Amino acid sequence: MGQNLRPSTLVPRGFVVDDAASGADATLITVRPLSIASACPGCGTRSVRIHSRYPRRLADLPMAGKPVLLVVIVRRFHCDAVLCGRRIFAERFDEDVLAPWARRTARLDDIVHHLGLVLGGRPAASFAQRLMLPVSNDTLLRVVRRRGSPRFVPPTIIGIDDWAWRRNQRYGTIICDLERRKTIALLPDREPATAQAWLSDQPQISIVARDRGGGYAMAAAKALPKATQVADRWHLMENASRAFLDAVRKSMRQIRTAIGATTINPDLLTAAERIQYEGYLHREDTNAAILGLAKAGVTIKEIVRRTGYSRGLVRRVLRGQRSDVFRVRESSLELYLPWLDAQWSAGQRNGAELWRRLAVQGFRGSLRVVTEWTTRRRKAEKVDGAALSRAPSARTVARLMTIGRDNLSKSETVIVAAIEGGVPQLVDAREIIAAFQAMIRKKSLVDLEPWLEQARSGLVAPFANGVVKDRAAVSAAITSPWSNGQTEGQITKLKLVKRQMYGRGKLDLLQARVIGAA
Ligand SMILES: [Zn+2]
Repeated sequence: MGQNLRPSTLVPRGFVVDDAASGADATLITVRPLSIASACPGCGTRSVRIHSRYPRRLADLPMAGKPVLLVVIVRRFHCDAVLCGRRIFAERFDEDVLAPWARRTARLDDIVHHLGLVLGGRPAASFAQRLMLPVSNDTLLRVVRRRGSPRFVPPTIIGIDDWAWRRNQRYGTIICDLERRKTIALLPDREPATAQAWLSDQPQISIVARDRGGGYAMAAAKALPKATQVADRWHLMENASRAFLDAVRKSMRQIRTAIGATTINPDLLTAAERIQYEGYLHREDTNAAILGLAKAGVTIKEIVRRTGYSRGLVRRVLRGQRSDVFRVRESSLELYLPWLDAQWSAGQRNGAELWRRLAVQGFRGSLRVVTEWTTRRRKAEKVDGAALSRAPSARTVARLMTIGRDNLSKSETVIVAAIEGGVPQLVDAREIIAAFQAMIRKKSLVDLEPWLEQARSGLVAPFANGVVKDRAAVSAAITSPWSNGQTEGQITKLKLVKRQMYGRGKLDLLQARVIGAA
């Protein structure tokens, strides 16, 4: 057992309890300071000569289900220093115990502040009531505002990006300390001048990771001419994919000619596959980021910390188990495809029946997997037979040309082969884009010059020209370990907090909550 509980251990440090009384609504505790002397706030001279005493009433943490009212007997001292203008002063206490003029003890104020940060005004107020904390909605917001954004450690490596206050209507700017993985500022708009003003106050910043729009690049160049700018790798990969899509769009006429009568129907993709494909584009970026870190010798634990992805996911990526497009569904059938093909050709086309027979062979997948397969087969045959449906969209062509032969159906393979034969410059464009993405993944800067040489003519020349214009930042993106990947994560958090505030979030409050709660 420990020692006996003394009343003074329950009140803020530096005070002893003189008296405690239990009222109907609150517990009243009278305390006095332990110290004998106090320093004059005017000259710093310590005095022990007491002039008078007066009570100061403050709310403190609740106790045993009741609010606590603390009555502090504060002393006034004489200041005996000859040259000091003050004759009498009231004693001051440690700010982290009892701030001057405060109506709450610091430990209560701390909790009120955190409640406000995490829950916002109204929800925090009703929760505070449950906790017997005597604070109103307004008080909570006032405390959050008064404490403002916690001062941040001056950053040296930052990420800057925009985020939507309201989608397509109003944008702000978010700035993250990439080393400490924290949001440190929200700016009210995404004007270069606003970002420039903020950056100018932080001359110690040496690296700025930013997207590829010109605004932040210009702001950083003006405010921090010596800082290295890093183009965001995530955006670079996406820009490259988009450049290929543009190349396909420009070639649609030739593509239609090349395909001739051989067309596919985009409906051949089941809904599940389409969703998986969209996820695939995102996963590719994730994979690249994780593999890049691993290659740089970063431990799994550290990768998990930096990217925010789960340990299991990071492991799977590193084992190469996460690069295929159509996962789960397709792979569960894979083993049985030759058998299914044979059954189909022999005329057995009933999905349920096929599934029953597969189950006997040990297939563990659901009936739906099989019926989706039969639906696809049926549609594929219809299309091949009809042979006159419309040409696939540019997006579909771009996808078919980049996902790899193994993932194509028979009719898709025919189409890709026709395009590759008839529009060779598109094959070049695909290789150039793939080379660019590989260069980013492998972080091989030596490849940049030869790549630019190769890319400057042909269908993806506009993309290459963009890279030339932003060459320093793109080079930095290839070599630098820093990227805006985590800034994206911070934006997700920001959106969550914003949503909790039901759109009434003012910037200072939003900033206090996002930055303070981090
Ligand atoms: Zn004095």
